[in-house]
Amino acid sequence: MGHVAGVAYAGAVTKRIVVVGGGIAGLSAAYTLQKDGFDVQVLEREGTPGGRMRSERHGEFVVDRGAQFVASSYRNMRALVDELGLAAKVRRLKTGRGAVLRDGRFVSSDYAGLRAIWNAKDLRLESKLRLPLILYDLRRNRRLLDFYAIEKAAPIDDASAYDWALRRFGREVLDYIIEPPFASTFTVLPEHLSRAFVLATVQYLFSGFRLHAFEGGNGLLTQTLASKLRVRTGVEAARVAQTADAATVTLADGSTVDADAAVVATPGSRVARLCDTLTAEERRFFEGVRYAASIIVFVMTATAEADPGVYGVGISRREGVRLYGLAMENPKDGAVPPGKTMFNCAFSEEYAAELMGRTDGAIVEALHGELRKLPLRGLDRTEAHAVHRWPELVPQFYPGYIRSLAAFQRRRERSGRLFFAGDYLVAPYTEGALTSGLRAAAAVRARFSAGDG
Ligand SMILES: Cc1cc2nc3c(=O)[nH]c(=O)nc-3n(C[C@H](O)[C@H](O)[C@H](O)COP(=O)(O)OP(=O)(O)OC[C@H]3O[C@@H](n4cnc5c(N)ncnc54)[C@H](O)[C@@H]3O)c2cc1C
Repeated sequence: MGHVAGVAYAGAVTKRIVVVGGGIAGLSAAYTLQKDGFDVQVLEREGTPGGRMRSERHGEFVVDRGAQFVASSYRNMRALVDELGLAAKVRRLKTGRGAVLRDGRFVSSDYAGLRAIWNAKDLRLESKLRLPLILYDLRRNRRLLDFYAIEKAAPIDDASAYDWALRRFGREVLDYIIEPPFASTFTVLPEHLSRAFVLATVQYLFSGFRLHAFEGGNGLLTQTLASKLRVRTGVEAARVAQTADAATVTLADGSTVDADAAVVATPGSRVARLCDTLTAEERRFFEGVRYAASIIVFVMTATAEADPGVYGVGISRREGVRLYGLAMENPKDGAVPPGKTMFNCAFSEEYAAELMGRTDGAIVEALHGELRKLPLRGLDRTEAHAVHRWPELVPQFYPGYIRSLAAFQRRRERSGRLFFAGDYLVAPYTEGALTSGLRAAAAVRARFSAGDG
């Protein structure tokens, strides 16, 4: 019977599942459920599916909206990529080296291992002696640090990364080793991040983490999944509700879509507003889901001179630049034409909030005001920009969030016909979102395999 096993579970009638949101979480849930024999449709508000994992062409440049890279350690993504026949399209970045801005210069940010820490030219002796304590922290908490089960870290979700790093390692490590990579990757300052999240991330990085990207843009994965599914684009859900024997999605135009169950795969911060039949425990959790907001601008130049030869640059607020960082696109195969440069820049949350309502032109001007503070060349030969405003960039794993996620996962009162998927449930990157989609699909399967109608 192969893939139609799901149909058999439920008796003679194929169960209908509606997935709200066509990002990587919703698409991976939908794809898995369809393989299991469910009758699945995806509703996506935008004109193109993919959400925060989409790519678009700007002349000869390929711009990744949202996810910039995928990592060698993304094991669920790797399995899906193999199954879809896309493995040859996943390419290692030509460089994954990182830098931080320090006193106006880019300096290496390689602190992986005792030797690298000891040899770091820009670190004071006190920092060199204190930073290795992190290896002790990782070892002591190793059973709690699993990015595929972040809720295990709830017992150490007790302080902000800021307070913890300042106390444990001192000011220099906080400002130049902790803040820049976390602020530039997750667009959030260490005071709004849990120390448990930072430790779990460092553990994940140490377990072998090489940067990859899909040739032709990371949107290849979401596009390929969407091409195998029934996806209705330009359709916005206004309400998702469950009754005793159905789930109903009311669309913004007032029409409805009925199904046996719904997978809500929108950003988590929207769920409480969208679903008014949530249980009290679910509502409490969803009301606490927060996302970082920022503006990302891609800068395309007509010269290779603007490429500083690293992948990412993190910027501490101590440097007086209102950007969290830059990421180069040149290391990606096929993203940038020869002889040119493209990089993207993330505004600090504070500056982004000030600029969010301004025109693209005003944002670009503000950006160049900040870029002039950096040791970059070739900016006088800038050809084009792409400005992306992200009111919901990535979920914030703020102090206490992992504990509330753990409580949500253990909840007793569940909406039996509503399932949830999204990066905020596992980890704030594509593998986290994809994994949440696989888990939502497994929960739907389990619900209907019990033979319940
Ligand atoms: C700028 C940026 C850089 C990033 N860099 C990386 C990176 O380098 N590596 C990495 O792994 N991850 C990165 N991420 C994170 C990663 O992109 C996300 O974690 C992941 O794509 C989230 O997927 P999702 O399906 O959970 O959510 P989304 O992709 O947000 O999908 C939700 C979908 O729901 C739709 N929707 C919302 N409301 C409704 C509604 N009412 N009705 C119908 N549809 C609705 C949205 O349009 C969207 O398509 C980055 C994200 C951003 C924004």
